[in-house]
Amino acid sequence: MKIMVPVKRVIDSNVKVRVKSDGSGVDLANVKMSMNPFCEIAVEEAIRIKERGEASEVVAVSIGSAKAQDTLRTALAMGADRAILIKTDETVEPLAVAKVLKAVAENEKPDLIILGKQAIDDDCNQTGQMLAGLLGVPQGTFASKIELDGDKVKVTREVDGGLETVELTKPAVITTDLRLNEPRYASLPNIMKAKKKPIDETTPEDLGVDIAPRLKVLAVEEPKAREAGIKVDDVPSLVDKLKNDAGVL
Ligand code: AMP
Repeated sequence: MKIMVPVKRVIDSNVKVRVKSDGSGVDLANVKMSMNPFCEIAVEEAIRIKERGEASEVVAVSIGSAKAQDTLRTALAMGADRAILIKTDETVEPLAVAKVLKAVAENEKPDLIILGKQAIDDDCNQTGQMLAGLLGVPQGTFASKIELDGDKVKVTREVDGGLETVELTKPAVITTDLRLNEPRYASLPNIMKAKKKPIDETTPEDLGVDIAPRLKVLAVEEPKAREAGIKVDDVPSLVDKLKNDAGVL
């Protein structure tokens, strides 16, 4: 069984994001980039499935600039077998990502595609759903547990107010939620080994996919700065403030 794991290079989750002064987007100059945390969970899950002997190959895929190679190397160091970079310097929206991934999936024929539920840069939460729709295969989104059983996959989903379990027939698309697993750190020997693992390169054009943007970003703004808190002397003044200033009572 083959598992394909799409991984995105995003601003590191510990970096304080700065908006460009012209409001056209987020400043990426000299900013630390890492693998999207939900994609790390997807790689970890794929590797665990392989380690249990339930998969034979894990292929990491990324669409982005040449620097996305670093993200693929991280996936390889975690334990993926090989990687594919679909190289472009253009902005790739989720629909275009899904179309590119569909083309890759048609070549690779994976039994499972495990994606992050969302990329923490644009917070779209769209790609997995669109990919499943384009491929015409079942989807299990927001997975907190994945159990394989022959040609079926049981996915426990984190939904509002509880958990839902769905059964999918492979090939299928799964997206990962936070509680699925805790991703491993790549060990030094594995980082060294990953340098020798193959990364194939192609482009959206070679795959015959039009990635022209369909959306236009009108403005990006910083969230409003939080106002400083105040101290009150006693409970009556707290109640007064909550009633008259905050209007919450
Ligand atoms: P999104 O729909 O943009 O929130 O992204 C959800 C998931 O789709 C991510 O966690 C990745 O698994 C995958 N994905 C999104 N963009 C890319 C990309 N440029 N390259 C590879 N995978 C991606």
